[in-house]
Amino acid sequence: MKNGKSTKLYKEAQNYIPGGVNSPVRAFKSVGLDPIFIDRAEGSKIYDVDGNEYIDYICSWGPLILGHSNKEVLEGVEDILKKGTSYGVPAPIEVDMAKEIVEAFPSIDMVRMVNSGTEATMSALRVARAYTKRNKILKFEGCYHGHSDSLLVKSGSGALTFGVPTSPGVPEDVVKDTLVCKYNDINSVKEAFNNNKDEIAAVIIEPVAGNMGVVPPMEEFLSDLRKLTEENGTVLIFDEVITGFRLSYGGAQEHFGIEPDMTCLGKIIGGGLPVGAYGGKKEIMEMVSPVGSVYQAGTLSGNPLAMHMGYKTINILKNNKDIYVEMENKAKRLEEGFNSNIEKLGIDAHVSRIKGMTCLFFATGPMTNYDDVSRCDTDKYAIYFREMLKQGILVPPAQFEGIFLSTAHTYDQIEKTIEANYYALEKAFNLK
Ligand SMILES: *Cc1c(COP(=O)(O)O)cnc(C)c1O
Repeated sequence: MKNGKSTKLYKEAQNYIPGGVNSPVRAFKSVGLDPIFIDRAEGSKIYDVDGNEYIDYICSWGPLILGHSNKEVLEGVEDILKKGTSYGVPAPIEVDMAKEIVEAFPSIDMVRMVNSGTEATMSALRVARAYTKRNKILKFEGCYHGHSDSLLVKSGSGALTFGVPTSPGVPEDVVKDTLVCKYNDINSVKEAFNNNKDEIAAVIIEPVAGNMGVVPPMEEFLSDLRKLTEENGTVLIFDEVITGFRLSYGGAQEHFGIEPDMTCLGKIIGGGLPVGAYGGKKEIMEMVSPVGSVYQAGTLSGNPLAMHMGYKTINILKNNKDIYVEMENKAKRLEEGFNSNIEKLGIDAHVSRIKGMTCLFFATGPMTNYDDVSRCDTDKYAIYFREMLKQGILVPPAQFEGIFLSTAHTYDQIEKTIEANYYALEKAFNLK
Protein backbone atom coordinates (compact mmCIF):
# COMPACT_ATOMS: atom_id res chain seq x y z
CA MET A 1 0.00 0.00 0.00
CA LYS A 2 1.56 3.27 -1.10
CA ASN A 3 1.18 6.11 1.36
CA GLY A 4 3.88 8.67 0.47
CA LYS A 5 1.51 11.48 -0.43
CA SER A 6 -0.77 10.98 2.56
CA THR A 7 2.19 10.90 4.92
CA LYS A 8 3.59 14.10 3.43
CA LEU A 9 0.24 15.87 3.69
CA TYR A 10 -0.24 14.68 7.25
CA LYS A 11 3.16 16.09 8.24
CA GLU A 12 2.36 19.41 6.64
CA ALA A 13 -1.17 19.51 8.04
CA GLN A 14 0.12 19.15 11.58
CA ASN A 15 1.90 22.49 11.25
CA TYR A 16 -1.30 24.31 10.53
CA ILE A 17 -4.18 22.30 11.99
CA PRO A 18 -4.21 20.83 15.50
CA GLY A 19 -3.25 17.20 14.98
CA GLY A 20 -3.53 17.76 11.24
CA VAL A 21 -7.28 17.12 11.22
CA ASN A 22 -10.50 19.06 11.59
CA SER A 23 -12.18 16.37 13.70
CA PRO A 24 -10.20 14.11 16.06
CA VAL A 25 -11.30 10.65 14.87
CA ARG A 26 -9.83 11.39 11.43
CA ALA A 27 -6.30 11.26 12.84
CA PHE A 28 -6.53 7.41 13.08
CA LYS A 29 -4.92 7.72 16.51
CA SER A 30 -6.66 4.78 18.12
CA VAL A 31 -5.60 2.45 15.31
CA GLY A 32 -1.95 3.52 15.37
CA LEU A 33 -1.70 4.66 11.78
CA ASP A 34 -1.20 7.92 9.96
CA PRO A 35 -4.46 9.01 8.35
CA ILE A 36 -5.10 8.59 4.66
CA PHE A 37 -5.95 11.76 2.74
CA ILE A 38 -8.80 11.42 0.29
CA ASP A 39 -8.75 12.58 -3.28
CA ARG A 40 -12.26 11.57 -4.33
CA ALA A 41 -15.11 9.17 -3.69
CA GLU A 42 -17.87 7.65 -5.72
CA GLY A 43 -20.65 5.30 -4.69
CA SER A 44 -19.28 2.93 -2.06
CA LYS A 45 -15.67 3.55 -3.06
CA ILE A 46 -13.20 6.05 -1.71
CA TYR A 47 -9.79 6.83 -3.26
CA ASP A 48 -6.82 8.30 -1.41
CA VAL A 49 -4.20 10.69 -2.79
CA ASP A 50 -1.77 7.77 -3.28
CA GLY A 51 -4.19 6.05 -5.62
CA ASN A 52 -5.38 3.35 -3.18
CA GLU A 53 -8.99 2.34 -3.50
CA TYR A 54 -11.20 1.24 -0.61
CA ILE A 55 -14.72 0.04 0.01
CA ASP A 56 -15.88 2.75 2.38
CA TYR A 57 -17.81 1.84 5.53
CA ILE A 58 -17.43 5.29 7.09
CA CYS A 59 -19.54 7.12 4.52
CA SER A 60 -18.72 10.44 6.15
CA TRP A 61 -20.00 8.97 9.46
CA GLY A 62 -23.56 8.61 8.30
CA PRO A 63 -24.74 11.34 5.93
CA LEU A 64 -24.09 9.39 2.74
CA ILE A 65 -26.83 6.78 2.89
CA LEU A 66 -27.05 6.99 -0.91
CA GLY A 67 -23.29 6.64 -1.35
CA HIS A 68 -20.71 9.22 -2.39
CA SER A 69 -21.48 11.72 -5.16
CA ASN A 70 -24.82 10.13 -5.91
CA LYS A 71 -25.79 11.18 -9.44
CA GLU A 72 -29.42 11.82 -8.65
CA VAL A 73 -28.54 14.02 -5.68
CA LEU A 74 -25.91 15.94 -7.66
CA GLU A 75 -28.11 16.47 -10.69
CA GLY A 76 -28.67 20.18 -11.29
CA VAL A 77 -26.28 21.29 -8.55
CA GLU A 78 -24.61 23.71 -11.00
CA ASP A 79 -27.93 25.43 -11.62
CA ILE A 80 -28.48 25.84 -7.90
CA LEU A 81 -24.99 27.28 -7.45
CA LYS A 82 -25.54 29.73 -10.28
CA LYS A 83 -28.50 31.16 -8.42
CA GLY A 84 -26.28 32.09 -5.49
CA THR A 85 -24.99 30.18 -2.49
CA SER A 86 -26.47 32.08 0.45
CA TYR A 87 -28.95 34.91 0.77
CA GLY A 88 -29.42 35.78 4.40
CA VAL A 89 -33.13 36.13 3.69
CA PRO A 90 -35.62 33.27 3.22
CA ALA A 91 -35.75 30.98 0.17
CA PRO A 92 -38.50 28.59 -0.99
CA ILE A 93 -36.36 25.46 -0.51
CA GLU A 94 -36.36 26.11 3.25
CA VAL A 95 -40.13 25.69 3.29
CA ASP A 96 -39.92 22.51 1.17
CA MET A 97 -37.31 21.06 3.48
CA ALA A 98 -39.21 21.86 6.68
CA LYS A 99 -42.42 20.37 5.23
CA GLU A 100 -40.58 17.20 4.24
CA ILE A 101 -39.21 16.73 7.77
CA VAL A 102 -42.53 17.50 9.43
CA GLU A 103 -44.26 14.97 7.18
CA ALA A 104 -41.65 12.30 7.87
CA PHE A 105 -41.83 12.73 11.65
CA PRO A 106 -45.34 12.93 13.13
CA SER A 107 -43.87 14.12 16.45
CA ILE A 108 -42.40 17.19 14.73
CA ASP A 109 -44.89 20.03 14.19
CA MET A 110 -42.22 22.62 13.53
CA VAL A 111 -38.54 22.46 12.77
CA ARG A 112 -35.61 24.87 12.80
CA MET A 113 -32.59 24.24 10.58
CA VAL A 114 -29.07 24.68 11.95
CA ASN A 115 -25.61 23.76 10.65
CA SER A 116 -24.59 20.69 12.64
CA GLY A 117 -25.83 18.03 15.00
CA THR A 118 -23.99 19.77 17.81
CA GLU A 119 -26.00 22.92 17.23
CA ALA A 120 -29.21 20.93 17.05
CA THR A 121 -28.83 19.27 20.47
CA MET A 122 -27.46 22.39 22.11
CA SER A 123 -30.41 24.44 20.86
CA ALA A 124 -33.00 21.79 21.70
CA LEU A 125 -31.75 21.74 25.29
CA ARG A 126 -31.99 25.52 25.55
CA VAL A 127 -35.58 25.42 24.34
CA ALA A 128 -36.48 22.53 26.67
CA ARG A 129 -35.01 24.40 29.62
CA ALA A 130 -36.95 27.54 28.76
CA TYR A 131 -40.14 25.57 28.20
CA THR A 132 -39.99 23.73 31.53
CA LYS A 133 -38.33 26.60 33.45
CA ARG A 134 -35.94 23.99 34.83
CA ASN A 135 -32.15 23.70 34.56
CA LYS A 136 -31.17 20.07 34.92
CA ILE A 137 -30.78 17.73 31.98
CA LEU A 138 -30.23 14.00 31.89
CA LYS A 139 -28.12 12.09 29.41
CA PHE A 140 -26.78 8.55 29.13
CA GLU A 141 -23.22 7.39 29.43
CA GLY A 142 -21.85 6.40 26.03
CA CYS A 143 -24.32 8.54 24.08
CA TYR A 144 -22.77 11.35 22.07
CA HIS A 145 -24.69 14.49 21.29
CA GLY A 146 -22.00 16.72 19.82
CA HIS A 147 -19.44 18.80 21.60
CA SER A 148 -21.37 21.55 23.39
CA ASP A 149 -20.21 22.16 26.96
CA SER A 150 -23.14 20.81 28.94
CA LEU A 151 -23.11 17.52 27.03
CA LEU A 152 -19.40 16.77 27.32
CA VAL A 153 -19.78 14.76 30.49
CA LYS A 154 -19.29 11.27 31.78
CA SER A 155 -20.64 9.84 34.98
CA GLY A 156 -18.41 9.96 38.01
CA SER A 157 -17.37 7.00 40.11
CA GLY A 158 -20.75 6.18 41.64
CA ALA A 159 -23.47 4.36 39.78
CA LEU A 160 -25.43 7.54 39.57
CA THR A 161 -23.74 10.88 39.93
CA PHE A 162 -23.56 14.35 38.58
CA GLY A 163 -21.55 14.73 35.45
CA VAL A 164 -17.81 15.18 35.35
CA PRO A 165 -16.45 17.11 32.35
CA THR A 166 -14.83 14.84 29.75
CA SER A 167 -12.79 17.72 28.46
CA PRO A 168 -10.68 20.45 30.01
CA GLY A 169 -12.19 23.82 29.29
CA VAL A 170 -15.66 22.69 30.29
CA PRO A 171 -16.39 24.43 33.59
CA GLU A 172 -17.66 22.16 36.36
CA ASP A 173 -20.35 24.77 36.93
CA VAL A 174 -21.74 24.15 33.47
CA VAL A 175 -22.01 20.38 33.86
CA LYS A 176 -23.28 20.43 37.44
CA ASP A 177 -26.77 20.45 35.93
CA THR A 178 -26.09 17.45 33.71
CA LEU A 179 -27.11 14.11 35.21
CA VAL A 180 -25.70 10.95 33.71
CA CYS A 181 -27.53 7.62 33.75
CA LYS A 182 -26.83 4.16 32.46
CA TYR A 183 -28.13 3.26 29.01
CA ASN A 184 -30.78 0.52 29.12
CA ASP A 185 -31.09 0.88 32.90
CA ILE A 186 -34.47 2.41 33.69
CA ASN A 187 -33.84 2.15 37.43
CA SER A 188 -30.95 4.57 37.17
CA VAL A 189 -33.35 7.02 35.51
CA LYS A 190 -36.03 6.48 38.17
CA GLU A 191 -33.46 7.18 40.85
CA ALA A 192 -32.39 10.37 39.08
CA PHE A 193 -36.00 11.55 38.92
CA ASN A 194 -36.54 10.71 42.59
CA ASN A 195 -33.43 12.63 43.61
CA ASN A 196 -34.26 15.62 41.42
CA LYS A 197 -38.00 16.06 41.75
CA ASP A 198 -39.44 18.67 39.36
CA GLU A 199 -35.94 19.75 38.42
CA ILE A 200 -35.17 17.85 35.22
CA ALA A 201 -35.92 19.89 32.11
CA ALA A 202 -35.02 17.26 29.54
CA VAL A 203 -33.87 13.73 28.95
CA ILE A 204 -31.77 13.44 25.82
CA ILE A 205 -30.98 10.05 24.32
CA GLU A 206 -29.83 8.33 21.16
CA PRO A 207 -32.81 5.96 20.74
CA VAL A 208 -30.33 3.52 19.24
CA ALA A 209 -26.88 4.32 20.57
CA GLY A 210 -24.49 4.75 17.68
CA ASN A 211 -21.52 6.36 19.34
CA MET A 212 -20.40 3.52 21.62
CA GLY A 213 -20.60 1.11 18.75
CA VAL A 214 -24.17 0.16 17.95
CA VAL A 215 -26.15 -0.55 21.12
CA PRO A 216 -29.90 -0.99 20.60
CA PRO A 217 -32.35 -0.14 23.37
CA MET A 218 -33.73 -3.11 25.28
CA GLU A 219 -37.40 -3.96 25.18
CA GLU A 220 -39.48 -1.41 27.12
CA PHE A 221 -36.54 0.91 27.84
CA LEU A 222 -37.70 3.68 25.53
CA SER A 223 -41.37 3.29 26.40
CA ASP A 224 -40.53 3.37 30.12
CA LEU A 225 -38.50 6.50 29.46
CA ARG A 226 -41.46 8.03 27.64
CA LYS A 227 -43.71 7.25 30.59
CA LEU A 228 -41.30 8.58 33.21
CA THR A 229 -40.65 11.84 31.36
CA GLU A 230 -44.37 12.37 30.86
CA GLU A 231 -45.11 11.79 34.53
CA ASN A 232 -42.43 14.28 35.52
CA GLY A 233 -43.22 17.02 33.02
CA THR A 234 -39.81 16.51 31.44
CA VAL A 235 -39.13 17.04 27.73
CA LEU A 236 -38.00 13.83 26.03
CA ILE A 237 -35.49 14.57 23.26
CA PHE A 238 -34.54 11.89 20.76
CA ASP A 239 -31.18 12.61 19.23
CA GLU A 240 -31.77 11.03 15.84
CA VAL A 241 -28.77 12.62 14.17
CA ILE A 242 -27.67 9.12 13.09
CA THR A 243 -30.94 7.18 13.21
CA GLY A 244 -33.13 9.76 11.49
CA PHE A 245 -33.84 8.58 7.92
CA ARG A 246 -31.43 5.66 8.53
CA LEU A 247 -33.04 3.18 10.93
CA SER A 248 -36.23 3.80 9.01
CA TYR A 249 -37.55 6.76 7.06
CA GLY A 250 -39.16 8.20 10.19
CA GLY A 251 -36.17 7.29 12.34
CA ALA A 252 -36.07 5.27 15.54
CA GLN A 253 -39.33 6.84 16.74
CA GLU A 254 -41.16 5.33 13.79
CA HIS A 255 -39.44 1.97 14.28
CA PHE A 256 -40.25 1.74 17.98
CA GLY A 257 -43.55 3.62 17.80
CA ILE A 258 -42.60 6.14 20.47
CA GLU A 259 -43.14 9.88 20.12
CA PRO A 260 -40.59 12.13 21.79
CA ASP A 261 -41.37 15.80 22.50
CA MET A 262 -38.38 16.99 20.53
CA THR A 263 -36.11 15.48 17.90
CA CYS A 264 -32.63 16.37 16.73
CA LEU A 265 -31.53 15.57 13.21
CA GLY A 266 -28.33 15.96 11.20
CA LYS A 267 -26.09 13.88 8.95
CA ILE A 268 -28.47 12.40 6.32
CA ILE A 269 -30.65 15.52 6.11
CA GLY A 270 -27.69 17.47 4.75
CA GLY A 271 -26.93 14.98 1.99
CA GLY A 272 -23.22 15.47 2.69
CA LEU A 273 -23.33 19.20 3.44
CA PRO A 274 -23.20 20.74 6.92
CA VAL A 275 -26.77 20.61 8.28
CA GLY A 276 -28.60 19.94 11.51
CA ALA A 277 -32.18 20.47 12.66
CA TYR A 278 -34.25 20.39 15.79
CA GLY A 279 -37.98 20.23 16.01
CA GLY A 280 -40.92 19.07 18.04
CA LYS A 281 -44.31 19.96 19.37
CA LYS A 282 -45.65 23.31 18.23
CA GLU A 283 -46.08 24.52 21.78
CA ILE A 284 -42.42 23.89 22.49
CA MET A 285 -41.04 25.14 19.17
CA GLU A 286 -43.00 28.39 19.44
CA MET A 287 -40.68 29.25 22.33
CA VAL A 288 -38.02 29.92 19.67
CA SER A 289 -37.28 33.46 18.50
CA PRO A 290 -38.81 35.34 16.71
CA VAL A 291 -42.15 33.82 17.86
CA GLY A 292 -40.90 33.28 21.38
CA SER A 293 -38.01 34.62 23.36
CA VAL A 294 -35.49 31.75 23.22
CA TYR A 295 -32.64 33.03 21.10
CA GLN A 296 -31.12 30.83 18.44
CA ALA A 297 -29.81 31.99 15.05
CA GLY A 298 -27.42 31.14 12.22
CA THR A 299 -25.88 33.08 9.32
CA LEU A 300 -25.82 30.00 7.09
CA SER A 301 -28.79 28.15 8.60
CA GLY A 302 -31.10 26.85 5.89
CA ASN A 303 -28.36 27.42 3.32
CA PRO A 304 -29.93 26.89 -0.12
CA LEU A 305 -27.28 24.51 -1.44
CA ALA A 306 -27.33 22.38 1.71
CA MET A 307 -31.14 22.38 1.69
CA HIS A 308 -31.26 21.20 -1.91
CA MET A 309 -28.82 18.34 -1.27
CA GLY A 310 -30.66 17.27 1.86
CA TYR A 311 -34.08 17.66 0.29
CA LYS A 312 -33.13 15.52 -2.68
CA THR A 313 -31.62 12.85 -0.45
CA ILE A 314 -34.76 12.64 1.68
CA ASN A 315 -36.95 12.62 -1.40
CA ILE A 316 -35.12 9.69 -2.93
CA LEU A 317 -35.51 7.81 0.35
CA LYS A 318 -39.21 8.69 0.54
CA ASN A 319 -39.90 7.43 -2.95
CA ASN A 320 -37.87 4.24 -2.53
CA LYS A 321 -38.73 2.90 0.88
CA ASP A 322 -37.50 -0.55 -0.17
CA ILE A 323 -34.07 0.99 0.37
CA TYR A 324 -34.56 0.24 4.07
CA VAL A 325 -35.25 -3.42 3.43
CA GLU A 326 -32.21 -3.58 1.19
CA MET A 327 -30.00 -1.88 3.79
CA GLU A 328 -31.23 -4.28 6.44
CA ASN A 329 -30.51 -7.27 4.22
CA LYS A 330 -26.97 -6.08 3.60
CA ALA A 331 -26.41 -5.50 7.31
CA LYS A 332 -27.88 -8.95 8.04
CA ARG A 333 -25.49 -10.57 5.59
CA LEU A 334 -22.54 -8.78 7.21
CA GLU A 335 -23.76 -9.89 10.63
CA GLU A 336 -24.16 -13.47 9.47
CA GLY A 337 -20.76 -13.52 7.72
CA PHE A 338 -18.91 -11.96 10.65
CA ASN A 339 -20.62 -14.31 13.10
CA SER A 340 -19.66 -17.31 11.05
CA ASN A 341 -16.02 -16.11 10.98
CA ILE A 342 -16.07 -15.53 14.74
CA GLU A 343 -17.39 -19.03 15.28
CA LYS A 344 -14.89 -20.65 12.93
CA LEU A 345 -12.01 -18.86 14.64
CA GLY A 346 -13.39 -19.45 18.12
CA ILE A 347 -12.70 -15.88 19.26
CA ASP A 348 -14.27 -13.45 21.71
CA ALA A 349 -16.13 -11.00 19.52
CA HIS A 350 -19.70 -9.89 19.11
CA VAL A 351 -21.78 -8.48 16.29
CA SER A 352 -24.64 -6.19 17.18
CA ARG A 353 -27.21 -5.22 14.60
CA ILE A 354 -30.51 -3.44 14.40
CA LYS A 355 -32.06 -2.93 10.97
CA GLY A 356 -29.32 -1.50 8.73
CA MET A 357 -27.05 -0.50 11.62
CA THR A 358 -24.34 -2.92 12.67
CA CYS A 359 -21.08 -3.06 14.57
CA LEU A 360 -18.33 -5.56 15.40
CA PHE A 361 -17.24 -5.52 19.04
CA PHE A 362 -13.96 -7.04 20.21
CA ALA A 363 -15.44 -8.64 23.34
CA THR A 364 -18.20 -11.11 24.02
CA GLY A 365 -21.75 -9.77 24.10
CA PRO A 366 -24.34 -8.84 24.94
CA MET A 367 -23.63 -5.12 24.68
CA THR A 368 -26.22 -3.11 26.57
CA ASN A 369 -24.37 -0.10 27.98
CA TYR A 370 -21.09 1.76 28.22
CA ASP A 371 -19.62 -0.61 30.81
CA ASP A 372 -20.22 -3.52 28.46
CA VAL A 373 -18.57 -1.93 25.45
CA SER A 374 -15.68 -0.74 27.59
CA ARG A 375 -14.58 -4.37 27.88
CA CYS A 376 -13.58 -4.37 24.20
CA ASP A 377 -9.98 -5.04 23.24
CA THR A 378 -9.13 -1.86 21.36
CA ASP A 379 -5.56 -3.03 20.63
CA LYS A 380 -6.95 -5.97 18.70
CA TYR A 381 -9.36 -3.63 16.94
CA ALA A 382 -6.38 -1.52 15.83
CA ILE A 383 -4.74 -4.56 14.23
CA TYR A 384 -8.05 -5.50 12.67
CA PHE A 385 -8.48 -2.02 11.18
CA ARG A 386 -5.00 -2.08 9.64
CA GLU A 387 -5.49 -5.55 8.17
CA MET A 388 -8.83 -4.51 6.67
CA LEU A 389 -7.27 -1.38 5.18
CA LYS A 390 -4.51 -3.48 3.59
CA GLN A 391 -7.23 -5.50 1.91
CA GLY A 392 -8.87 -2.38 0.52
CA ILE A 393 -11.61 -1.96 3.10
CA LEU A 394 -12.04 1.19 5.14
CA VAL A 395 -13.87 0.44 8.38
CA PRO A 396 -14.22 3.07 11.13
CA PRO A 397 -10.79 3.89 12.62
CA ALA A 398 -12.12 3.35 16.15
CA GLN A 399 -13.81 0.48 17.97
CA PHE A 400 -16.75 2.48 19.25
CA GLU A 401 -18.28 3.40 15.92
CA GLY A 402 -20.84 1.62 13.81
CA ILE A 403 -20.37 0.42 10.25
CA PHE A 404 -22.12 2.80 7.86
CA LEU A 405 -23.73 1.17 4.86
CA SER A 406 -25.11 2.90 1.79
CA THR A 407 -27.37 1.91 -1.07
CA ALA A 408 -24.23 1.90 -3.24
CA HIS A 409 -22.65 -1.08 -1.42
CA THR A 410 -23.06 -4.21 -3.53
CA TYR A 411 -23.52 -7.78 -2.31
CA ASP A 412 -20.22 -8.61 -4.01
CA GLN A 413 -18.52 -6.02 -1.86
CA ILE A 414 -20.25 -7.37 1.22
CA GLU A 415 -18.91 -10.86 0.43
CA LYS A 416 -15.43 -9.46 -0.15
CA THR A 417 -15.69 -7.69 3.20
CA ILE A 418 -16.68 -10.88 5.00
CA GLU A 419 -13.73 -12.70 3.47
CA ALA A 420 -11.33 -9.89 4.45
CA ASN A 421 -12.88 -9.90 7.92
CA TYR A 422 -11.83 -13.53 8.40
CA TYR A 423 -8.16 -12.83 7.64
CA ALA A 424 -8.12 -9.60 9.63
CA LEU A 425 -9.64 -11.33 12.67
CA GLU A 426 -7.13 -14.15 12.32
CA LYS A 427 -4.31 -11.57 12.48
CA ALA A 428 -5.89 -9.53 15.26
CA PHE A 429 -6.27 -12.60 17.47
CA ASN A 430 -2.80 -13.80 16.53
CA LEU A 431 -4.03 -17.12 15.12
CA LYS A 432 -1.76 -17.00 12.13
C1 LIG B 1 -22.70 13.07 14.86
C2 LIG B 1 -23.62 13.21 15.99
C3 LIG B 1 -23.88 14.45 16.61
C4 LIG B 1 -23.10 15.68 16.28
O1 LIG B 1 -23.29 16.10 14.97
P1 LIG B 1 -22.20 17.07 14.30
O2 LIG B 1 -22.80 17.42 12.99
O3 LIG B 1 -20.94 16.28 14.22
O4 LIG B 1 -22.05 18.24 15.20
C5 LIG B 1 -24.86 14.52 17.57
N1 LIG B 1 -25.54 13.43 17.94
C6 LIG B 1 -25.32 12.22 17.39
C7 LIG B 1 -26.13 11.05 17.83
C8 LIG B 1 -24.33 12.07 16.42
O5 LIG B 1 -24.07 10.86 15.92
